[in-house]
This record gives sequence, C-alpha cells and structure tokens, in this order.
Amino acid sequence: MSAVTPGMVCSHHHLYSALARGMPSPPRQPTKFIEILEQIWWRLDVALDAEMIRWSAMLGAVEALQSGTTAIVDHHESPSCIEGSLSIIADACSEVGVRTNLAYGVTDRHGADGARRGLAENERFLRGGGRGMVGVHAAFTCSDETLAGAASLARELGVGVHIHVAEGPDDATAGERLQALARDDWHLVHCVYLDRDLPGTIAHNPRSNMNNSVGYARPAARPNKIVLGTDGIGADMLEEARLAYVRLREDDVLATPDTVWQWLDNGYALFPEARADRVTWNYPQADSAWHVAFTPGVRAVHVESDAGEVLLRHGLPTRVDINEVRAKAAEQATRLFGKL
Ligand SMILES: [Zn+2]
Repeated sequence: MSAVTPGMVCSHHHLYSALARGMPSPPRQPTKFIEILEQIWWRLDVALDAEMIRWSAMLGAVEALQSGTTAIVDHHESPSCIEGSLSIIADACSEVGVRTNLAYGVTDRHGADGARRGLAENERFLRGGGRGMVGVHAAFTCSDETLAGAASLARELGVGVHIHVAEGPDDATAGERLQALARDDWHLVHCVYLDRDLPGTIAHNPRSNMNNSVGYARPAARPNKIVLGTDGIGADMLEEARLAYVRLREDDVLATPDTVWQWLDNGYALFPEARADRVTWNYPQADSAWHVAFTPGVRAVHVESDAGEVLLRHGLPTRVDINEVRAKAAEQATRLFGKL
C-alpha cells in the first residue's frame, strides 16, 4: 500500500472546453445529442481564436497536474483558427509540464475546404515532429472522401486516427462506414451505438455519456482494449474511474474495480514514460483500486516527472503561477462568451 502512483493518463480530452464552464444558455434548449452539439459545442468551437486556445490549454493542463494527470490525449477543433492550433496546445501544455498526444478533428461541417485545412493542420503538426494522431470529428460530419483522406494520411505517417465513433444515434452508421478503414492503431471514442466491432482502442467517457444522455457504452462487452477519458470535463482520472466503476456496476453487479483500473493502466500504451512519473496523493492507499474506487476526494499533492523535476508542489504547479493562469483563462472566457 502506497500513497505514490505513476502519473495518470487522460485518454480523451477537449482542452478548449475549460472555457465552456458558465457559458451563457443556448438560444434554444437542446433536447437530444445532435442539438447539444449544434447549440453548445459547435457555437463554441467556431468562436475560438489563438489566445483562447492557448489559455484554455494552459488551464486544462494545470488542472490535470492538480489531479495527478501527467499525460493527455486531446482532440481539438477550432474552425476559425485551424492552422497552428495544435502547436499552441502542445506549447501551452509543455510549459506546464504535461505530455500530450494531439489531433485536429477534421470535419466537413464547414465545407470541403474546412476539411482540407483540418487535414493539413494534422499533417503540418505531425510532420514537424509533433506527437499525435490524425483527428476526425466523426463519420457523420464527414464525407467518405474525407474519411478516406484522413485514414490514408495516418497510414502514411505511421499513426492512428483519433475519431468519435457512434457517440449518439446520429452516428449509428459509423461502423459500416469505417469498417474498411479502421486499423489497430485507431483511437475510437465512445462507441455507444456501434453495431459491430472495429479494430482499435476504445476510449470510454462515462461522465460525458451520462451528461449527454446517450446511454451506456458497455465497454466491458467489447473485445477491444479500453482506455478512459473525460471528453473535456476536466482531467481527474480517479474521479472518472470511480464513475466508470459505478456505471459498470449498475450494468453488472459482478464487476470489480480491477476492470476499470485496467482501463486506466491501458492508457500507458500511448505514454509509456508516464509510468515513471511519480504522483504522491493525500491518501495512503492510492495505489489500491479497491480503496480508491470507494474513496472520493483523493487529490494529488506532489508530482515529479520521470526526469526528477517537481511539477506540482503542495498541490500547486511549479512552472506557472496558477492565479495568473486562472485570471487569463477567465479573461478569455469572457471574450468567448461575448462572441457567442
Ligand atoms: Zn470527445
């Protein structure tokens, strides 16, 4: 039993959503998944500019460290500020000391030119040595040409495709459309309505699925490797794991916390070095799934990188001033809300 664990991995995030908290109500009340996208997220992402992207990523990274999370797989979209956006996020997170695997979510929502520029941003970032995957928003917002283009770019660059799959009923045909394209290195997010098995790792995001009222993904019933993400609602992986556990348990009374802690562990496939990061928690049995699954409020107090650098001391980031980050992010949130 120990208060020390490796760094946590958040295997699906949208760092820009750090600015979404407290945003003004949409013009119409969304009543289903597609309307939540249209009324909230697609109004928000189109308003993002470089400064908003930078400070949302910085705040998201600081809050990740405070949750003991040292590595983030992020999926980004900012249709009005595409080129260079992945580098802004990479730089902000690396300034704080958080590792990232980034992808720009390609989509035809803004026409074929928008899709082309999204693909180009993935290519620019990855060819320039950036760590990431080729991002696709989802099959239902992309033409077959765009899906094939993303798949072939990913193959050419030797990386996977990071894509939302059958999150809601509107994307229920994703399995059929992706079947000939998907490969073992693909990062398939949600898979709630997926009608067949596809090759790849499945990123399960229980809090987001509940919040969007899309139903339970039943990840334990899939043959795939499962990892855990937050889908943009912070990066507190112990909190997400506790939630994943009770959601699993609601479906199967025989389930144990070990299953969900295996999902956390699977996250190291993309960030092997995060295993050597050391997080000290405010709880002496933080390394025990059976303890943490039933112990709310376990927090990181000290984080040290694999290279021995202290990144979080007494619960506070060492490389940046948390008050400044919060103030700048609040400023950007106000600008963002003004544009909505
Ligand atoms: Zn997502």
